[in-house]
This record gives sequence, structure tokens and C-alpha cells, in this order.
Amino acid sequence: MSRFMSDRYQGLRAYTPGEQPTDQKYIKLNTNESPFPPSEGVVRAINEAEVKNLRLYPDPDCGKLREGLADLVGFEKENIFVSNGSDDILNFSFMAFCDGERCGAAFPEISYGFYKVYADLYGVDAKMIPLAKDFSIRAADYHNVGRTVVIANPNAPTGLVLTVDEIEEIVRSNPDHVVVIDEAYVDFGAKSCVELVHRYENLLVVRTFSKSYSLAGGRLGFAVGSASLIDDLNKIKYSTNPYNINRLTMLAGIAAVAENEYYMNNCRVIEENRAYATNALRELGFEVLDSKANFIFAQSDEIDGESLYLELKRRGILVRHFTTEQIKNFNRITVGTMDEMKALINVTGEILAQKRKERN
Ligand code: PMP
Repeated sequence: MSRFMSDRYQGLRAYTPGEQPTDQKYIKLNTNESPFPPSEGVVRAINEAEVKNLRLYPDPDCGKLREGLADLVGFEKENIFVSNGSDDILNFSFMAFCDGERCGAAFPEISYGFYKVYADLYGVDAKMIPLAKDFSIRAADYHNVGRTVVIANPNAPTGLVLTVDEIEEIVRSNPDHVVVIDEAYVDFGAKSCVELVHRYENLLVVRTFSKSYSLAGGRLGFAVGSASLIDDLNKIKYSTNPYNINRLTMLAGIAAVAENEYYMNNCRVIEENRAYATNALRELGFEVLDSKANFIFAQSDEIDGESLYLELKRRGILVRHFTTEQIKNFNRITVGTMDEMKALINVTGEILAQKRKERN
């Protein structure tokens, strides 16, 4: 750290992104990307003529993209905000809807690690609510909580879900605070609560193109909320970086929305592969939570989480290991193609066999 760093940020503990290694080719199951390429329309949209258009600024209103998304989710353009990945929208939400000690935030203790980083970044008092013993979120813990609520549904890294009724009760019981539901993983078999936006002005639903829409590298996220919440987010965007969606990503997003069916079919394949990998890991003796996301969260009594992560990596398979005490025996494994899942199961079986041999 230089001596010039603002006092405000000197103690900040930044988010650690998943590894994006360049040293060798891995079966990459560590950052929940899609194993499928973007649809053909996306590839066509990013052509030479459009690359030449990069000399021009993009449309800061993102009109066409927002209209496409509004149609997709059954709302008006005024209800749609788009930004540079859903991280950007979560960041803006902490800026816009939390306020130091006057309006703190509440989110699960085990969840997406960025929530705490944003809270710290803006000096927001964070109430981190423990999960139940089975790693589920207890919806009642968030009733009348008197803070901005942020919940990932499905939750990460557990993959467990709340029902729409449970979310509605959280939204209803906190009428003077915004409830942000981060639906990054909702397309893989969970039920979206987006319909509730018609009835609750304090609900913001955040989505991403990074998982189900195969565009993690494009950086595109969107949010659905009441027109006034969307106005607030736009105010922050226009006070920081109005051009935060580049021309190519904008076109990719528009094309992806138009080919929604391709992506939803891919999600169904991921669900099948998830069922296969879940069962196969359970047969190997793993505890595997009931995930509705494009990852599974698993632990074994026979090998600790970090050793399994390292052994898999040594054999060319990258998964995500967290060091947080309650979940340090687990690994989060992205659901990829069936071939990737079979490789994961074979290699995991070999590692366990090796361990057993060493013990005997
Ligand atoms: N929310 C959750 C729960 C996530 O796991 C992620 C991915 N790391 C994000 C949001 C951010 O995704 P992106 O910025 O790529 O849209």
C-alpha cells in the first residue's frame, strides 16, 4: 500500500476472485461459468463492422437491451437497470440503499463474499446472520430486520433456495427498506421472485448474464425493480461511469435475449449433469447439498476440503475451496459438461482410493 491511499480504505479487505489460471489447461469448475459457448446470434453480432464502431461511445441508456429484457421478464423498460456485471449492480445497491449506521445491511453469514466487502467499502453496518445447521437460510431471521436485506437465491456457495412465499414475507415485513434478491443462479431450476416486483416497490431482483447466458467475459448484469429504485441506480451509474456497458457487450446481450431458448435448454442440460454428479459423489460417500444452482457443494469424511481441492488441481481439475471455518471441509464444484463431470467423478474416485490405500 502506498502512503497516498485514503485512510478510509487502508483497512479494506478486498474480495478474492476465483483463480483464472493461465499456466495450463484445466477442467475449470471453479467460477461457475457456463461450459457452453454463446449462441450463434451473439457470435454474429460481434462482427468486424461493430469492432470498427468501437471508436464511438455506446448508448448510455442501453435502450434496446433494456427493452429486450423488459419483454423477457414481463416489465417495462423503466423497471430494468443494466450494468457491468451483477457485481456492479450489487455495488451500486450498497451505495444507494445503505447508509452508514443509519441504514445497515443484513445478509447471511455464509453467502457471496462480496456483500461484506461492499458493506466495508461504504462503512455500512453489516448484520451477518448465521445459517441454520443444515446450511439453509431461515427466512424468519430477516422479518422486520430494519435494514437493507441482501440474499442470494439460490444461495452461494450452498445452492439452497428460499421459496417465493418466504421471500415475499421478507419483503412485506421490511416495507421501509430495500430487499435485494441476487438471482445469479436462478435459471438452473429455482423459482424467480421477479413477479413480486409488480407489487412491492422495495424489491430489487438482480440477475446476471455470466452463468446461464454464457457471457461471464462480457460483463453484463441486470436488475428488475420499481421505476424509482431503477432511477436511484441510474443516478449512481451516471455519477460514476455512464458508459459502463461497452458496445460489443451491449450487442451480445441483445442477441442473447433474442435467443433465450438456446440458453434455457443449456440450463436444462446443466440440471441433468448436476443430478448425475450429485448422485455419483453421494455414491462415493460425499455429503452433497441439494443444489438448485450450476454448482454443487460437497464434503467427504475421508478427505479434508483443502486436500481434495489440491489433489484435484494437481490432476488438472480446478474447483473452489473456501477457508471460512464452517465450510472449510467443503468444495464448490461448477457443473460442466457430462464429460467434465465424468472426469471429476473418476479422478475423485482415484484420489479417495489412494487415500484409503495410504490409511491401510
Ligand atoms: N452474485 C453471486 C451470488 C455470484 O456468485 C456472482 C458470481 N461471482 C455474482 C453475483 C457476480 O456475477 P457477475 O458480476 O459476473 O454478474
